Amino acid sequence: MRPLLVLLTCTVLSAPAAWAETGTAEQVRYVMGTPATVTAWAPGQAEADGAVEAAYHVFSRVDSLMSTWRDDSVLSRLNAAGAGNWVTVGSEVCEVLLEAKAVAGASGGAFDPTVLPLVRLWGFRDGAVAVPDTASLTTVMESVGHRWLEVDLQGGRARLNRAGMAVDLGGIAKGYALDQAAAAMRKAGAEGGMLDLGGNLLAFGQGPAATAGIVDPEDPSLVVATVPLVDVSAATSGQYERFLTSEGRKYGHILDPRTGHPVPGDLSVTVLAAEALLADALATAGVVLGLEAGLALIEDIPGAEGVFAVPRPEGGYDLVATSGLALTETNR
Ligand code: ADP
Ligand code: MG
Repeated sequence: MRPLLVLLTCTVLSAPAAWAETGTAEQVRYVMGTPATVTAWAPGQAEADGAVEAAYHVFSRVDSLMSTWRDDSVLSRLNAAGAGNWVTVGSEVCEVLLEAKAVAGASGGAFDPTVLPLVRLWGFRDGAVAVPDTASLTTVMESVGHRWLEVDLQGGRARLNRAGMAVDLGGIAKGYALDQAAAAMRKAGAEGGMLDLGGNLLAFGQGPAATAGIVDPEDPSLVVATVPLVDVSAATSGQYERFLTSEGRKYGHILDPRTGHPVPGDLSVTVLAAEALLADALATAGVVLGLEAGLALIEDIPGAEGVFAVPRPEGGYDLVATSGLALTETNR
């Protein structure tokens, strides 16, 4: 087995297969705040090259629509519009907002796209993480709630119905971008593709047989379990991936909108689903919900499977998977 892509928590291993296609193209570029690797297989080299370009084109379009790291994105315009004012955001943003609201409802608010005021309050946007005082936390919590995000799909517009509200699609937009990129690659003539957008994976169509490896959260060079990666997306979320430190304590970038605090602990959740958007959002939701409620949520959603790496108090961790997942444990 030859490692094709190495990620923090998910690794794609590809078996050297007899591959009939004549065109293969692969590029690694930095997009949406993260490295992205796109591989295309096509009957000809020109189509493979074109498919890879088409994927990156989608990534930059989604970034210009949904990034909250830039002021000129459509989402940043919505966030700046003030309470109660409709903003024309277009059908793509409307669709993702509606999907985000659906996951928010299904997860009892564990996943919530209106979490941005909390993300800012804790200092995750300016890099200076500090524990906020109770009064500020209480005030900011009043502007967090997916119910106050109103979406008019027909009209291609949205509005925030509460003062101080702001939307963050950081837990779902990469998944959406992968789904759209795969569609664009097919349109450009790719018969197969493998995409890795900052640990969110998507494999489609014909290509060398691929396996997603769940890596050891404590030693990402160790693959501890594998699952076949065929026409599926896999997303991993965990606090240890991205965190900031304040006064010797680690604070991860996933917040619990129900408490207003960063989710404690080092749980890592990988979700597999046909739709990358769903895998992405559910992985984030799973980290917030924890093992029991997270597993129950994913079990309930047809076609979605999950693996939870639950740290043991004495060190190490247990792998717990949903019932429909064929997980092969290795190196343990
Ligand atoms: P990554 O972006 O590292 O792949 P996730 O998909 O788990 O990780 O998304 C985490 C991002 O989602 C955070 O950086 C933040 O922007 C946003 N976020 C944090 N907490 C929540 C939450 N409870 N619900 C929805 N989005 C969240
Ligand atoms: Mg996510």
